[in-house]
Amino acid sequence: MPSAPIDSYHRRIEYLRLSVTDRCNLRCTYCVPEKGVPKLEHHDILRYEEILRLAGLAAKMGISKIRITGGEPLVRKDILYLCERISRLNGVKSLSITTNGVLLPEFAQGLLQAGIHRINVSLDTLERGKFERITRRDSFQEVWRGITAAHAAGIAPIKLNAVVMQGVNDDEIEDLARLTFAYPFHVRFIEFMPFQENGRQDPFLSGDEIIDRLKRIGPLVPARSKDSNGPAQHYRFSGALGLIGIISPISHHFCPACNRLRVTADGKLRTCLFSSDETDLRELLRQGALDDEIIAAIREAIEKKPEKHELDSAVFRRCINRPMVAIGG
Ligand code: SAM
Repeated sequence: MPSAPIDSYHRRIEYLRLSVTDRCNLRCTYCVPEKGVPKLEHHDILRYEEILRLAGLAAKMGISKIRITGGEPLVRKDILYLCERISRLNGVKSLSITTNGVLLPEFAQGLLQAGIHRINVSLDTLERGKFERITRRDSFQEVWRGITAAHAAGIAPIKLNAVVMQGVNDDEIEDLARLTFAYPFHVRFIEFMPFQENGRQDPFLSGDEIIDRLKRIGPLVPARSKDSNGPAQHYRFSGALGLIGIISPISHHFCPACNRLRVTADGKLRTCLFSSDETDLRELLRQGALDDEIIAAIREAIEKKPEKHELDSAVFRRCINRPMVAIGG
């Protein structure tokens, strides 16, 4: 297999996040605007054979880590079939999924059998009522059952992602972190990112402030995670089974280490979460482009991958042309 492509800033691009749907069974306030988002038409969404072709071409280019995301990937019909096919592609070394967990009770075992050994589950709170306020759905119990089902099935690591919002769930930072004493989970705290229409009352709390809160539990020891070369800084509490991760896209740029590409459910390649530049791969696929032509388009986009995002500049608000649910987290 070739080694991963290198962009203009010497970053090795080896990670592809594939969004398989824009549909979601939750309506998280930080992700989906209150009035909802226009749904993609069925024919706008990449078909499985198109997704498989892109995943195969990416793997052929040396992009060896693939994550399935959405919307909510588990709501897409026959998702296990897609996972299994991707996991068997030559050159795919790691396949993972990001899910809200609502359907995990029924999917945990199947995911493992389909070649998914690691999952990320969004979990912003441990309180049922607050879960409903954040996600606009009363599904906490299913999600918790799903997480424990995935654990029982042997999926590891299980990473729990909490978007920290001041005045909403920051009072639970310590309770969420304490899960690492009972389970070998990675509990990761993510800085709130202001996307289109979710940022009117900005509840941002920085990674450093989150760490200060965590220190109330006890000393936090910097740790290394063999399961991640991603953007999280890792820590561990003495005696804990799991890890703590802090993901600070706003306060600490991790752009210099960014190794990722995203493909949206409608087949647009994005090289930066915060740039609206997109390459229309669906158009190429449907026009009958040859493999080499598609690979050339991906290479060209990689060469133009921005050096860093513009979150701290006035350009930022203009460059967010889709909410997170329509990009693929
Ligand atoms: N439905 C799946 C889920 O809930 O995990 C996958 C898609 S969701 C868009 C993926 C992740 O995006 C969520 O875990 C959440 O952490 C992140 N996300 C969405 N909006 C965000 C925001 N405004 N700030 C920070 N993270 C956000």
